[in-house]
Amino acid sequence: MRADPADYKLVSPRNLQAVLSLLADEPSQWLPIAGGTDVMVLYSAGKLPNRKLIDIWGIPELRQIEVLPERIRIGAACTYTALRRHEIISRDFRLLALAASWTGGIANQNRGTLGGNIANASPAADSLPALLVYDAELTLISVRGERRVAYRNFHTGYKKTALAADELIQDISLPRKFAGYASHARKVGARNAQAISKVCLAALGQCADSVIRDVRLALGSVAPVPLRLQETEHLLNGNKIELSLINAARKSVMKEIRPIGDIRSSARYRAAVAANLVAEFIEKLAVEGTYA
Ligand SMILES: Cc1cc2nc3c(=O)[nH]c(=O)nc-3n(C[C@H](O)[C@H](O)[C@H](O)COP(=O)(O)OP(=O)(O)OC[C@H]3O[C@@H](n4cnc5c(N)ncnc54)[C@H](O)[C@@H]3O)c2cc1C
Repeated sequence: MRADPADYKLVSPRNLQAVLSLLADEPSQWLPIAGGTDVMVLYSAGKLPNRKLIDIWGIPELRQIEVLPERIRIGAACTYTALRRHEIISRDFRLLALAASWTGGIANQNRGTLGGNIANASPAADSLPALLVYDAELTLISVRGERRVAYRNFHTGYKKTALAADELIQDISLPRKFAGYASHARKVGARNAQAISKVCLAALGQCADSVIRDVRLALGSVAPVPLRLQETEHLLNGNKIELSLINAARKSVMKEIRPIGDIRSSARYRAAVAANLVAEFIEKLAVEGTYA
């Protein structure tokens, strides 16, 4: 371990207001730590710039999952295990439950949180494409009050977010409007478990008589931020599924993404896989047909 614990201060406030007061008193000094699965990796490598940590793991408001008729509200410090085990999330938000099931291993899923995955802002994060296609909304909270931000506007660049230094993500809200949609998720990594994605996909859509409606496609690891493929969606919506459309969609995907080559994959491989995953979903949509 390259970091010395004596150089760091960790506090565990008992309530949300106390956390927010600390963040407001010394913005950018205090770093929230939820499950610690990203923070502790930096700490162990001696790369954690903050010396003051606020533990938010035990704050009750951040650990609740509230099911309302129109939406589900997930506290930011809910773990992947909590998401996987939740009956409504597993049924109505299958893409999120699947992403939770292939994020790290079991130990990681018991500690890693959805809010941590969002705030950490990795373009390869597995849960974020699902949040894009489900039209997720974030509640950001500070002593100044709360504000709601559409998740699609939250990641503003590579590892950059709309979160102010004194703010926390309080919850993630998903509208319950996707019953009857076909869904598809894929993670392509070096192995089945404990692998960072080379490319990951979350997709939703409807189809009848081979005509596509409201298709929603999002990819991770192909751009500086998780990406919704709006041009490809536009190309597909209202059109009949046939080989020429699938081929046009492949080309459109390649035009929309901006993959890089790194230690995990080449840009060319990422582009080919991204196009294949979208084509795979369209073929699935043709078979599953979802609206009357
Ligand atoms: C072995 C291992 C395997 C992994 N595998 C995967 C994987 O397959 N897929 C994947 O996507 N990720 C993976 N990760 C990364 C990590 O587990 C996830 O990003 C996880 O969701 C982070 O959540 P956390 O609660 O542990 O975050 P923390 O480490 O506690 O925090 C991460 C960042 O988020 C901030 N933060 C946390 N909560 C909030 C909040 N409520 N409001 C504002 N800021 C907040 C922290 O200040 C910090 O900057 C892996 C990590 C490890 C160590």
